[in-house]
Amino acid sequence: MAYDPDNIFAKIIRGEAPCVKVYEDDHTLAFMDVMPQADGHTLVVPKADAESIFDLDVEMTACLMRTTQKVAKAVKKALDCEGLMLAQLNGRAAGQTVSHIHFHVIPRNDGASLGLHGRSMADTKHLEAVAEKIRAALG
Ligand code: AMP
Repeated sequence: MAYDPDNIFAKIIRGEAPCVKVYEDDHTLAFMDVMPQADGHTLVVPKADAESIFDLDVEMTACLMRTTQKVAKAVKKALDCEGLMLAQLNGRAAGQTVSHIHFHVIPRNDGASLGLHGRSMADTKHLEAVAEKIRAALG
């Protein structure tokens, strides 16, 4: 299927839609998930017209993984979580709802169940406060 340039993450990358940003470089962008499954839930996207892992070339895949690891380390430090989950969904059958490839970086703690996917909107002020901690941890 052709890439839809009007998907919400494409708009965020182009600066046409808002996000609570934690990190950006020439090839990638990381921002807070507005419907977090756990406090600190962050998304990492490549600046490429790619819907899924199958559409991303190897160089951009490497850029995406590099940023995902960098952000994962910062999220772990900022949230002081016991564990951390990475998730990346390809296609509607796999649960993908936004058609621009992204990694979910989700803090996990013993006994804390995972929130439902894309269910309740977080307070923007709270997301900003969490993002500030993650940005500080990125150094
Ligand atoms: P997926 O189902 O893997 O495609 O995940 C899409 C994620 O994007 C969900 O966790 C949503 O909560 C999140 N999301 C949707 N719209 C936005 C937005 N405008 N800003 C930040 N996160 C979003």
